Amino acid sequence: MNVTELARKLKINTKQLLEILPEHGFDIGKRSIKIDDQMADQVIRRWKYIKKAIEDKKLEELEVQKEKEKELRREEGKTVTLSEDIISVRDFADRLDMSVTTVITELMKSGILANQNQNIDHETATIMAEDLGFTITKEQSHGIVYDDRCEEALQKALTFGEHTESRPPVVVIMGHVDHGKTSLLDTIRKANIISTESGGITQHIGAYQTIWKDPKTEEERPITFIDTPGHEAFTVMRSRGAKVADIAILIVAADDGVKPQTKEVIQIIKAAKLPFIVAINKIDKEGANVERTKTDLSQHGVLAEEWGGDIAMVEISAKQNLHIDKLLDMLLLVTDMNVENIQADPSIPAIGTVIESHVDKGMGPVATILVQAGTLQKNDVLVVNNEIYGKVRAMKDYNGENVDSAGPSFPVQIIGFKVAPEMGDILDVSQAKTAHKIDVKAKRNEQTGADKRSVVSSHSEEDEDVKKKTVNIVLKSDVLGSLEAIIGSLEKFRHDEVGVKIVGKGLGNITENDVSKAESAGATVVGFKVNPTPLAEESMRERGVAFKRYDIIYDLIDWVRDELAKLLDSEEIVHELGIFKVLAIFRTDKKAMTIGGRVEDGKVKKGSLVRVKRDGEIIAEGSISQLQSGTQIVKEVPSGSECGLRFEGKEKIAVDDVLEIYEIESKVRELFFN
Ligand code: GDP
Repeated sequence: MNVTELARKLKINTKQLLEILPEHGFDIGKRSIKIDDQMADQVIRRWKYIKKAIEDKKLEELEVQKEKEKELRREEGKTVTLSEDIISVRDFADRLDMSVTTVITELMKSGILANQNQNIDHETATIMAEDLGFTITKEQSHGIVYDDRCEEALQKALTFGEHTESRPPVVVIMGHVDHGKTSLLDTIRKANIISTESGGITQHIGAYQTIWKDPKTEEERPITFIDTPGHEAFTVMRSRGAKVADIAILIVAADDGVKPQTKEVIQIIKAAKLPFIVAINKIDKEGANVERTKTDLSQHGVLAEEWGGDIAMVEISAKQNLHIDKLLDMLLLVTDMNVENIQADPSIPAIGTVIESHVDKGMGPVATILVQAGTLQKNDVLVVNNEIYGKVRAMKDYNGENVDSAGPSFPVQIIGFKVAPEMGDILDVSQAKTAHKIDVKAKRNEQTGADKRSVVSSHSEEDEDVKKKTVNIVLKSDVLGSLEAIIGSLEKFRHDEVGVKIVGKGLGNITENDVSKAESAGATVVGFKVNPTPLAEESMRERGVAFKRYDIIYDLIDWVRDELAKLLDSEEIVHELGIFKVLAIFRTDKKAMTIGGRVEDGKVKKGSLVRVKRDGEIIAEGSISQLQSGTQIVKEVPSGSECGLRFEGKEKIAVDDVLEIYEIESKVRELFFN
């Protein structure tokens, strides 16, 4: 048997296997290609114990290393700032400057199971940080609370259940912009061996299934593909800890190689421990270089099986439909290798994730749910975030056909939501009895902003938010990491009167679509390390949409801060100047009068403002446009002098009226964030 084959069976990297075997008494060289069948059998039989021994050894080494690091932190007096609030695992890891995985592992040791988006309380954070050798300093409290009970419920439903059975794999295609994600999704859709009844009219509901014949068993098996547009798929993957997808296809164009978003996808997939295969695309193209692409990938820790690694790579052309069959065969193989994780109980109430959501002009809110466990039925109550959003009135599959129920891994478009849920929200029918009714009006109001995920409104200040003046931006960036870092920084701009609203965001160059979004929301297009396409540039010029490009995050943030400061109403300080008594009326015009009188107190100044008082009451307001002392035009007249002045104002002044003369100084306020 080939060593590679054995390694694949054992789900281990070939090189690692060859290193391990001699340590466990198997006489085999480190560069061997073949292994004696009898020995292979023995390895398979003893694998459970060998694996445990390897893991134990690794853990021991890791513990020693961690102890050393802890000691070092104590010696150096490393500090971490923590507030009294709960904190998400990801933020906590950021503050400790440690990887999320390490923090999650540390939490597990204390018996706390949490993913990166879940929160831990102040006590736990403090104890953990101290355990890790940090000294704690206190930060002021903001009182932000996130609800993560839904995620827990989903996690539970996916892991438990009395009648679990295997379900179709859910696959997401990720890769750098323009490397062929959309093309591959289209080609795979057409590869379905069962022709659809809708006569080939493509329904884009956010996910679809393709039925593929298992080459080994001849069984017809469905595979579910997430086909939300590039960046949104990223977001769902990332924000929900990749719980939506079971397998990823990393697509890399052979004529372009590994690009920033490719590297990011590799990081995300690895962090989520998501099984994946690589599709090397565009092999039909002149300039395609498969070997170079593989070398590029190997430098980022993705090593092909034939190079001694454990990642399956398929060379394809999405455009010319080349080797798509191999890719689908491979997906079924990877599914079988991970079968223990690709299961669900179809008999429980449905639980799943919103993968697409919009408001249709005719039908109202429409959302696609990927059912992950249980079965969703017609008339089921739609519970999102412990609130009842409506009831399933009708369900359509990806072919536009009406269906009455949807089981695990099945995507369905649902009509019956009174309010549109948000992408990534979790639907949990089992909560129907305990959930409370949603306040439809309030929720809709909250969502009427150009972007319901506006930065400021995510901090439970929605009601006040409406009155706020905002700097609106459409934000585009080269990679997700920068995009998230920028949004993270902008979230810190929390102020009672002004705020930032992100009306659109995404990766890649600025397109006409971004310009349209910016125009309708009165926003500025902000590009971080990306430029507009020529068409978008022209469109911005024509529509008068402002554009800013930055290469440094701090510069971008500084610009936003300046814009916010400009929005802030300047402070008005009133300076009382003097009192003037009216002694004569010289001339009366429609909106002005020329009058004479005496400065009784202070002074009268040209250009200043006037309150007209009669019998102690203010009867009019106006301003002084001219001032004359004797025959001289002057700027100021002091107390005790008589003078003539031109009053600008609609009301008519009479002899004996008193004019209060004042000035308003407007002072730019400094911007302090809450
Ligand atoms: P996405 O941004 O990753 O979704 O990429 P698209 O699917 O939109 O593809 C970007 C461009 O590459 C389009 O012009 C496609 O026609 C082209 N393309 C995609 N796959 C192939 C392929 O296999 N061969 C060739 N020659 N072009 C391809």
